[in-house]
Amino acid sequence: MPDSALKNIKDFQKNKTSQKTKTIFHMDGDAFFVGVEVAKNPKLKGLPVVTGEERGIVSALSYEAKAMGITRGMPIFRVKRDFPKVLILPGDYRSYAKYSSMMFDIVRRYADDVEEYSIDECFADLTGLEPPLKMTYRQIAERIKSEVNEELGLSISIGLAPTKVLAKVASKWIKPNGLTVIDRERISDFLEKTPIGKIWGIGPRTAEFLNGFGIKTAQDFYMKKLEWVRENLASPYEVIWQELHGIYVMEIDPKPKTAYSSIQRTHSFHPFTNDKVFLLSQFSKNMEEACAKVRHYELVPKKISIFLKTKDFDYITRFITLPSPTNAPEILMNLVREKFKEMYRRGLQYRTTGVTLQELVPSCASQGDLFGGTERAHKFEQIHKQIDSLEEKYGKRVVYLASTHNALKNKGKGTNADDLDRDLLFL
Ligand SMILES: [Mg+2]
Repeated sequence: MPDSALKNIKDFQKNKTSQKTKTIFHMDGDAFFVGVEVAKNPKLKGLPVVTGEERGIVSALSYEAKAMGITRGMPIFRVKRDFPKVLILPGDYRSYAKYSSMMFDIVRRYADDVEEYSIDECFADLTGLEPPLKMTYRQIAERIKSEVNEELGLSISIGLAPTKVLAKVASKWIKPNGLTVIDRERISDFLEKTPIGKIWGIGPRTAEFLNGFGIKTAQDFYMKKLEWVRENLASPYEVIWQELHGIYVMEIDPKPKTAYSSIQRTHSFHPFTNDKVFLLSQFSKNMEEACAKVRHYELVPKKISIFLKTKDFDYITRFITLPSPTNAPEILMNLVREKFKEMYRRGLQYRTTGVTLQELVPSCASQGDLFGGTERAHKFEQIHKQIDSLEEKYGKRVVYLASTHNALKNKGKGTNADDLDRDLLFL
């Protein structure tokens, strides 16, 4: 728990009247990736659309696709087989990032303290803005909603409440295109109808644990005494309990986010090729760049996915769960080479390669396996740290893997420089 949160709890306990009454705004994009696709191409409006073709799984879906029974995470081959009418698009992360920042900029027209929580969600502190803006909080939220809608063509849902945890409950209450206000006096009306597992920060295991005490709804948890919460649960849950009571503990963090939960690197090339060595060298280049990026943030992936895109725009995607998280490209390329053998077809021509490092966690938090694989990885990680600082000093590309050499050599004639490099925050 951050120190500021502890301090807020202490302040509250010392003197209940010192409690700050806040108005916290939470905004959540409705089916955001698909929303952006529709904003870019309005002809898609009202159609069943999914994105995620390049990842091999549905990463976002329109409400029309949802109504047909498609879910997030469903394999793309199943969508193709069972729902032939659905439009399947590859993710366009550069556009998602662009729309995301335009959306947050609209919120910043009204509020100074905006926390970009994910690509399509933000919190903002609206407290005290009624007099200067000559609008009620609800009117401010309505204004933001209609500006996002009219200027960007995106649909969003908004929640207003005294705390972040309650604002999240509010923004989910009516979706899509909702605006819900939770007043301090009406908190219980909402919590009674919210299963405890739906509360932000309560995972399935904690929900199950709480169910064991007869706590089924958020209201059941709300009704527990603070002493009980302290005895039975870790301190983050005490914060959630306070927040459900309308006590502002979790502060808005307006610092720009540097954390990524997933990073992708892709390269396209002309002419198309089926040259194995060339394709592997492209993968190697993708991998080195992606690894350098995650090392910069001191993160390691727990999973990776790789894809080949054929001349006819078909994707061949493979997922690899790492025996132990690492950001050493040598180790990861060994795994890619194995998978590549089963992805590659001699008769096909390819236009793009891509790698995605997924489920990124802080490198200090990653634990090695018991089978000795990690020591080698660790050595590579150390070497890369030194290379990274060399490159910082002398400019890019001082040292690279032998397997990347081919890709660099071909850079002038082959690699298409404009469609590339998109790195992004996922949800
Ligand atoms: Mg969303």
